[in-house]
Amino acid sequence: GPPVSVVSAIGNAARNGVLMKGGEHLERAGKIDLVAFDKTGTLTRGETAVADVTGFGHDADHVLRIAAIAERRSEHHLGSAIREAAERRSATRTDGGTVVTGTSLPDPDDFDVVPGKGVIAHHDGRELVVGNRALLDDRGIPVPDAAFVYVREREERGETAVHVALDGDVIGAVALRDELREAAPGVVRALRDAGVETVMLTGDNERTARAVAGEVGIDTVHAELLPEEKQTVIEAFRADGHVVAMVGDGINDAPSLATADVGIAMGAAGTDTAIETADMALMADGLERIPYAIGLSKAARWNVA
Ligand code: ADP
Ligand code: MG
Repeated sequence: GPPVSVVSAIGNAARNGVLMKGGEHLERAGKIDLVAFDKTGTLTRGETAVADVTGFGHDADHVLRIAAIAERRSEHHLGSAIREAAERRSATRTDGGTVVTGTSLPDPDDFDVVPGKGVIAHHDGRELVVGNRALLDDRGIPVPDAAFVYVREREERGETAVHVALDGDVIGAVALRDELREAAPGVVRALRDAGVETVMLTGDNERTARAVAGEVGIDTVHAELLPEEKQTVIEAFRADGHVVAMVGDGINDAPSLATADVGIAMGAAGTDTAIETADMALMADGLERIPYAIGLSKAARWNVA
């Protein structure tokens, strides 16, 4: 059987919110010299909310409502945040002294998701497009200077800004924010102090990713990645001789969690697929357990030797 020190280390880890599937993972975890973090839901809380809405010659409430109709059937975190904000705004608007509540959003006639770019819907004979620059370029929708400036400013703050277009005109934009997990900067610092390199991998745009990386103290950023590209980046780090841990939460992270030497799935917020694929699972808001888990495995190796 495995050495007693490994068994007790796994037991200690479990009591501290880190689940490990076996002693061999503990052994590998002790050699980690690079930790790759997913951004959304891992370094951030995964609770995206609308931070600001702007209209270019249009009322901001109208822009938000058009965006919400387009996102009515969206399962993306940006879409649900836009719907919630629109519902909250209409619920607090007063009409002749009475608060109008329960204003429900109409269902669009059709709805298409463009993965990694946004959504396209039709409603009342009009075309609604909500998404990033790439989506507008694909559709031949021109981006006004005001939109370009607005999006850049919000991205520099670490927010994600999406355009709202009606019948081929950009009528406004919505900025969304996902707060950092409180523990994130301390975790990055502790890893650095232990001589472990940290990198960020994300599907979000380069400017937003760099702003968030700056807030947590991560120097290396790989942005605008599709899920399979995250996996390729991990493979490249391994080919360079690194022993790599990947920390992720979403279903999209499963391939990169499996490719890393040690896959670490965030607990309660994580999906079952991510947890099944990973070698270790951190319970609940357990981001701060990462330096502990790595330190523990280093200690276990000493005990075994
Ligand atoms: P993330 O990894 O941040 O969840 P995705 O890869 O799903 O991002 O999407 C990348 C980008 O595509 C988003 O930052 C956004 O600009 C755009 N996008 C994706 N889905 C939507 C949506 N439902 N509504 C608007 N924009 C979207
Ligand atoms: Mg994520």
